[in-house]
Formats: sequence, C-alpha cells, structure tokens
Amino acid sequence: MNPHSITQEELNHVYSLLDFIQASPSAYHAVQSVEKVLKAQGFKELKFEDKWSILPQGRYYVTKNGTALIAFIAGEDHPENTGFHIVGAHTDSPSFRLKPSPEISVEGRYLKLNVETYGGPILNTWLDRPLSVAGRVVLKGESILRPRSMLIHSSSPILVIPNLAIHMNRKVNEGIELNKQKDLLPLLSTLGEGLDKDGILMGHLAELLNIRSEDILDFDLFLYEFESGNVIGLNQEFVSSSRLDDLAMVHAGAWALSQVQGNEATAVLACFDHEEVGSTSKQGAASPLLAHVLERILLAQGKGREAYFQALERTFMISADMAHALHPNSGEKHDPVNKPVLNGGPVIKISANQSYTTDAESSVMFEGLCQLAKVPVQKFVNRSDERGGSTIGPISATHLEIRSVDVGNPILGMHSIRELGGVKDHLAMSKVFREFFGI
Ligand SMILES: [Zn+2]
Repeated sequence: MNPHSITQEELNHVYSLLDFIQASPSAYHAVQSVEKVLKAQGFKELKFEDKWSILPQGRYYVTKNGTALIAFIAGEDHPENTGFHIVGAHTDSPSFRLKPSPEISVEGRYLKLNVETYGGPILNTWLDRPLSVAGRVVLKGESILRPRSMLIHSSSPILVIPNLAIHMNRKVNEGIELNKQKDLLPLLSTLGEGLDKDGILMGHLAELLNIRSEDILDFDLFLYEFESGNVIGLNQEFVSSSRLDDLAMVHAGAWALSQVQGNEATAVLACFDHEEVGSTSKQGAASPLLAHVLERILLAQGKGREAYFQALERTFMISADMAHALHPNSGEKHDPVNKPVLNGGPVIKISANQSYTTDAESSVMFEGLCQLAKVPVQKFVNRSDERGGSTIGPISATHLEIRSVDVGNPILGMHSIRELGGVKDHLAMSKVFREFFGI
C-alpha cells in the first residue's frame, strides 16, 4: 500500500472536522460545538460564580463570554505530583464584524452593510463569495446588568462582496489595494420605493429567532463563508475550508480529550478567543483565565497555593495553532532547510526571538509524543528575513511560567477564506493530543 494513501479513518476524521467547522461559523458557535462534543462524553459545566467541587476522573468545563472554553479531566494523581497536561488553541478566525446601525443605502436602490475588519483576513479571498452572518444578539434580561444572549446564524447566503469588473479596474491583475471601508462592504439586498433600510437585517434575524426585532438591543455579528469545506486532491489528500486556523486544533483537542480514560495527570483543553487581534481580552490568552481555572481546580480539591505553584512547575502546554506548509509556487519564501509539507505530520514552530515558546527541551518532549502516537513530525522556522506571525503560546507564557511548545498542522493560504490542509495531518495531531492527555 502506498504510505501516502489516505485511510478511511483519516478521511472520516476530516469529514468530522468539516462538520464541526460548518457548525461553528463564529467563535460563539465554536464554543457551542465543543460543548456538544464534551457533553456527549459526560462532561459537566461548572460556573465561575459557583463553588466548585471536583472528583478524581471527573469531567468538567467552563466557558467565558461564550467564546472561550476550558475543559478538563481531573487526574488520578494529584496535580502537585503530575502537573497539568494542557493543549491550547483559539476559537476565533479573521473575518468582518458588523458595525452599529449597519444598514447603508446606496442611491436608494441597494442595501449594503457597514463592517470593520476583524484580524488579518486575506481580503481579496472574501470577494464574490456567498457569505452570511453569525454571532450573538443581546436581548433584555432579568436586570440591566444581566442581559440575555442568543446565538444566531443566518442559514442562507444573504450577503456578497462584489468585485469591480476588470473593465473598470484595468490594473486589477497587477495588484490592487482594497480599502477596508470602501471596497469590502457586503451587499444585502435591493431597496424599492418606500422601503426603509433601517432594521431590515434585524428583522431577518428576529424572524429566524422567532422574536420581535425591537427585542434585539445589540449584537456581536461576524461574516462567514456560507459554502462548506471540501476534501480535494487526486487521492483525497487535501482539505479545503474556512477557519482551519484554528478550528482544526480546537476540534483535534476536543476529540482527544473526549477519548481519554484513566489519566494520571489532569488533562486540560484551553480554547481562547481573540488570538487574531492580540489576545488582550478577558477571554483571550493574555487574560488570567487559564491561571485562575488551574488554581480553582486545586482549590476545589482542598489544596492551597503551594500545591498550585508545585503543579505549575510540572505542567506542560502544547500551544496548537496552524503552521505554514511549503508553498508549491513560492518555495523561496521558506527557510532553506526546514520546509514542512502538507501530510508530512504535525509541525513544531521555532523562533529565536520567542514569537514561539518552543525550546530544544520542549521540542524533544513533543517529538517523543509524536513517536508514541506513531506519527511523523516536522519543524518550521521563518526565513531569517521574514517576520512571521505569533500565537497564544508566548502570550500565555507571560502569565503562566510553564514549559510549553508551539506546534500546529501545516496549511497553505493561512487567513484566506479557504485554507488548505493535509487530511493525514489532522488525525496525526489528534492522536498526539490523545497520547499527551492520556499519560
Ligand atoms: Zn491561529
């Protein structure tokens, strides 16, 4: 058998990822999708405002803002003896967010929406695609300080950002700068005589939710690509989809955690929001969220701060965010030696200036886990004259002084509306996480 041929198990796992991504058009929905996976495996929700009690081998999760989630399985041994085994990932992806009073009339004939860019999407990939909106709407609650939220995603492709014809844009193929305020506002509808533009979108959303549109007091709504992802390539070796960064790692982490039985160390999956915009929010990796949850796990087991600091010293975190695969048309953009490829296995990300947390020690630890899971492993380092990106690992490390490694699966077109990954890599990384959680 060709060692590069795709197995049914690998294909099934990627189809499960595509379903997961389809059900997760926004960070809110991503958290809901993870909850669904976990609840089916007996995980119980804890609330930050309640007193926690935790049983050995108990399965729990907490959410913050509906866009971040931390799940864990209490270990058989004490955390101060084993540390925590943490996989970190992020729920958000580059997109466009609706501004307040988003409806704009164009000459009384078209209705378009006012949006601002979220994170760093490759802008031109969003043009001429069926798009829709997803996120949450906020309604009146039991008191002023306790409003109610409802998740929403429009189940039809209601928007498109049209390109300008080449005849009006003769230099388009020489590279055109897209203005974020002018060129990227999505078209929603046509306007007729006497039709009031205001409230048309809210009317549509209210109808979907079966509520009155005046009940919607505010919203956090984002655009998403309506079409679902595909498995492509001559041998079904590639996966093409929106939001592989970083929902592929969220999915792999949730799958791995739900497979764990009889773990010595407490296994933790941390899914943060706002990675694409710097992580500085109460639900981002730059917040004390993870530190607080880890400490409360110990407090709930009747242990004190001394045990917490002992546990931190023994903790290891795999910060999992997608990596750059060798590009078939732009190989010169890569380091001359270290060139990860699609379907070559998980990638360890390395940077001298610490935009990744990996060091030789944590790299060896991750390689050991890959051996245990019987999957290949690759290394990525930027070409020395390319700055590259960063991720949640170094940001978490400034708040929790724990050992960690930055890894991710290789993809092409990171931050395109359609990113391209390898089918083999997804199951491979998922198995590495399972090994790590299980020991
Ligand atoms: Zn990412």
